[in-house]
Amino acid sequence: MEYKLLAETYAELETYSSKLKKTEIIAKLFKETPANLLEAVTLLIQGRVFPSWSEKEIGVAEQLLLKAIAKATGQPAEDVIKDYKKSGDLGLTVENLVNKKKQRTLGQESLTIKKVFANLQEISEQGGSGSQDRKLDLIAELLAQATPQEAKYIVRTVLEQLRIGVAEGIVRDAVASAYDVSVDAVEYAWNLLPDFGEVAKAAKENGASGLKKFKLKLGTPFIVQLAEKSPSLKEAIESYKKVLLEYKYDGMRTLIHKKGDKIWVFTRNLENITAAFPDLVQMARKNIKADDCVLDGETIGLDKKTGRPIPFQQLSTRIKRKYDIEKASVEIPIDVNLFDIVYLDGKNLMDLTLGERKKYLAKTIREVHGKFHVAEGLTTSDLKEAEKFYKESLKAGEEGVIVKDLDAQYVSGRRVAGGWLKIKPVMENLDVVIIGGTWGTGKRAGTIGSLHLAIREPESGKFLECGMMGTGLKEKESDKEFSMTLKEMTKILKPYIEHESASAIKIKPKVVIEVAYEEIQKSPTYDSGFALRFPRFIRLRPDKSADEADTIERVKTLYGQQKGRGK
Ligand code: AMP
Repeated sequence: MEYKLLAETYAELETYSSKLKKTEIIAKLFKETPANLLEAVTLLIQGRVFPSWSEKEIGVAEQLLLKAIAKATGQPAEDVIKDYKKSGDLGLTVENLVNKKKQRTLGQESLTIKKVFANLQEISEQGGSGSQDRKLDLIAELLAQATPQEAKYIVRTVLEQLRIGVAEGIVRDAVASAYDVSVDAVEYAWNLLPDFGEVAKAAKENGASGLKKFKLKLGTPFIVQLAEKSPSLKEAIESYKKVLLEYKYDGMRTLIHKKGDKIWVFTRNLENITAAFPDLVQMARKNIKADDCVLDGETIGLDKKTGRPIPFQQLSTRIKRKYDIEKASVEIPIDVNLFDIVYLDGKNLMDLTLGERKKYLAKTIREVHGKFHVAEGLTTSDLKEAEKFYKESLKAGEEGVIVKDLDAQYVSGRRVAGGWLKIKPVMENLDVVIIGGTWGTGKRAGTIGSLHLAIREPESGKFLECGMMGTGLKEKESDKEFSMTLKEMTKILKPYIEHESASAIKIKPKVVIEVAYEEIQKSPTYDSGFALRFPRFIRLRPDKSADEADTIERVKTLYGQQKGRGK
């Protein structure tokens, strides 16, 4: 199968924005793809050569790519750079330069999908001395053989900047349409093994029955179960017959796969974080009694001195870390709270009830206090007991509780009817002052699209910034959800504009609004030292002047109260 077909498909996809049309185009491509190329085609159509969860990546810097283009097109490197400066897009530059060259060398052998995929995958395997040259050769070999259009897409794939708007949902729908199976059947298989190559192959060869046979694969992440929001603890516990309450830890979703001596750790976003958490791997290796299993849990970071939970923000600095990993594991110790088991010694446990899975979980791990253990839980349908447990959780510095149905199976992905309900405290609203903004673009053009919020420091009389708000105001008059339009807000703010640069606006601290938010975080970005997470507009407070807005002291107090911190 020629790469030309793929390049033409990319070009076609670029001309449509409709999801349906994109799905149709990709389904047609899949139908024409032989089974042995489905892995390559399902990945390349997403602009990748490895699944999103793979640790492997192409990892080629722009500089190297410039050299490869020079080599393949026979142009001096300076000319490549010159053209790139003009176009601002390396894809367009290579298209242009190959085009020039093509006029001289016609009649070359055409590139195949197999060759492009193999060379791009091979790039990631190069390491050690001479690896840069080998990478350069692998790319230049493709570009030398490519048509201008093919070269453009090869370069964009290498840079991981294909930008043709093909999200996972579109590929899923295209697989369903190409092989005449239901979207649900495709999703079922994908949830267990998020690899469209495998899913498409099974659908092509065995249809719906092939997809039904999908199983978890140790070492490959799966789509995890998620929780729905519940308005109240009372409603949550009344939702199920057999109720288990668990602490809701504010940490990192942790999926531990064990196969003999080998351990992998994944997050909820399917990220492989095994290398960044050697302490977790060691605990798992020591304290899991089974040969093979998959555990689900939440890892929190602890304050080294007090042993209390620290905000996720701090723990998250360990996730992407490539250096000083051991040091970071001493600085930020962790506590792994396990709440589920979905695979044990060859058996998928997802179809068992939570009650049954809990028994397996208890048998599978050796608990280590404060480090590696079953999540704190209570089985009760009594509201008083549930409330007490909820308070305990907050006091312990956790985020709230998750109410679980002990009769429910493990449901990947979708939030609906999954058997998990989350309850966390609603933060008190704050009255803040608007001190700036930015002009909106697109649909928001002509209005102040995002507002800079501030709180008061009574001693200095200053207003200290504490966040940016982009939501809660409606774009159109017809939006029912919000009470005020961006246009109305802009009109109120305009008389107070003090200063404007290209897009930023400084506004006199006059207008007070009430905002809701998810959480208060510490932040070096703002001069208040705090950031409101996801602030939303609730209403205008024309009854309040700026010097009646909430103060930094109030924010400090609320910060201390949230999740029991500081108690
Ligand atoms: P949210 O991120 O607010 O949608 O809440 C769901 C998340 O809470 C899950 O993805 C887990 O990462 C986390 N979580 C913390 N404690 C638990 C628990 N006991 N059971 C399930 N999820 C938990």
